[in-house]
Amino acid sequence: MHSEQVTAEPPSKVDDVPSPASGADRAPLDFDVIIAGCGPTGAMLAAELRLHEVRVLVLEKETEPASFVRIVGLHIRSLELMAMRGLLDRILPHGRQRPAGGFFAAIPKPVPKGLDSAYAYLLGIPQPVIERLLEEHAIELGAQVRRGCAVAGFEQDDESVTVELADGQRLRSRYLVGCDGARSTVRKLLGVGFPGEPSRNDTLMGEMKVGVPQEEIAAKVTEISGTHHRFWLRPFGEGIYSVLVPAARVSDRAEPPTLEDFKQQLRTIAGTDFGVHSPRWLSRFGDATRLAERYRVGRVLLAGDAAHIHPPIGGQGLNLGVQDAFNLGWKLAAQIRGWAPETLLDTYQAERQPVAEDVLDNTRAQAELLSTEPGPQAVRRLLTELMDFDEVNRHLIEKITAIGIRYDFGEGPDLLGRRLRDIDVKQGNLYGLLHRGRGLLLDRTERLTVGGWSDRVDHLADPTAALDVPCVLLRPDGHVAWIGDDQQDLDDHLSRWFGKPAG
Ligand SMILES: Cc1cc2nc3c(=O)[nH]c(=O)nc-3n(C[C@H](O)[C@H](O)[C@H](O)COP(=O)(O)OP(=O)(O)OC[C@H]3O[C@@H](n4cnc5c(N)ncnc54)[C@H](O)[C@@H]3O)c2cc1C
Repeated sequence: MHSEQVTAEPPSKVDDVPSPASGADRAPLDFDVIIAGCGPTGAMLAAELRLHEVRVLVLEKETEPASFVRIVGLHIRSLELMAMRGLLDRILPHGRQRPAGGFFAAIPKPVPKGLDSAYAYLLGIPQPVIERLLEEHAIELGAQVRRGCAVAGFEQDDESVTVELADGQRLRSRYLVGCDGARSTVRKLLGVGFPGEPSRNDTLMGEMKVGVPQEEIAAKVTEISGTHHRFWLRPFGEGIYSVLVPAARVSDRAEPPTLEDFKQQLRTIAGTDFGVHSPRWLSRFGDATRLAERYRVGRVLLAGDAAHIHPPIGGQGLNLGVQDAFNLGWKLAAQIRGWAPETLLDTYQAERQPVAEDVLDNTRAQAELLSTEPGPQAVRRLLTELMDFDEVNRHLIEKITAIGIRYDFGEGPDLLGRRLRDIDVKQGNLYGLLHRGRGLLLDRTERLTVGGWSDRVDHLADPTAALDVPCVLLRPDGHVAWIGDDQQDLDDHLSRWFGKPAG
């Protein structure tokens, strides 16, 4: 990329930003934003805020990063986000590229034709690796991460939030974001309702060694997986297997499972415990489905599992949380830097809550399709037939991979509100121009300008860009905020998303 062809102002220093009026008796602000929780959502949010030089502290209650390997991997939209921030090359060597198909309710189907992305694959990568890479990225950008520090309480007023740590220490910031997972302390202290369905079925998952030959396991797994969809033994390398099996009912669900629990359940379902031994880690998870009633109360916000939980079918939770952070980061940064239009921060909930609602619904549907009851099995057979129509298959995969999302930006062409795929531009590729988390006017007419917004929005004049509209205005999250060729109309939309022009 030839950066001189993109007009951009350097970001101003955080010290330039006026602090909110603070009374003489108030403690000074320690940070602009405190984030509770350094899971994937918290780490991504911290990095996004740092792109705008917001002073960020991430408080993480655990002293060490988690070793519990959960996820299937990163789906297309998350891979696009990584590409937009120049992270994909760092992440790719740690994962394995797999086909972007066949994961809706584990119905085996080929990758649908015409998936509209330059990154149309699933990247299989363990969650601890993603968390580590995102945390490192946030720290490199200047975020502070303090481990072994649990958020225990907070108070907020018109100007700030005072956060209390478990050890009694108090820190003051302008905003607090709860990225503290499904049992979020921040959400509970806010008193935000978390309605939905409690867990009905628990599942055991872990990594362990086995005592029988691989061929024997493969034959048994093939036999059983025809009727039991919550069951697998997958080789992980070095004689280790990932084991998943329905859990028996227990009186205390918070109690960690034992190897004996796995053996018993394997014997019940497969007639053998495969001689499992030497576990690396063991876990139990449920299928509760819940959505926070609000994502924001004053200066406190929620993101990731703190705002929504659902069964891990289709592998969407981490992806959803990272995408929440991507949506919120630039808006919260704009608020802190003082250029946010009045309602910008509220668009976070308006845009992301319906996306989470949709994910909750598709996991509810998938859970039904995984049931071994005759009714759901009949629906599964019917859907399996329907998915032979490529459009049906594509619709479902676009849903799970989150490339089908269209935010409601009002009336306009279908592209308005959608994310723009990575396309060729004269400097290389579009996503390569979005690393700094700024807006971008991609202008094929070569006669428009971003004028007084050039400190927040880059301008790329490129008549050869692979677009079938004259110009698009992209938000920092890559969603299309405007399409057209009229300067006045563009200025109105720049004001709507990027506030008042400088000077
Ligand atoms: C078995 C299983 C398989 C899964 N598979 C997939 C998959 O394939 N794909 C996918 O996308 N998702 C998957 N998920 C879901 C995914 O793991 C979660 O959605 C994801 O971890 C959410 O990230 P988060 O950062 O929002 O929350 P978390 O990962 O829960 O992180 C929250 C962090 O906050 C910390 N914390 C908690 N309380 C406090 C406090 N008071 N103060 C400070 N810190 C605190 C925690 O220690 C933790 O580090 C799976 C989940 C399970 C259980």
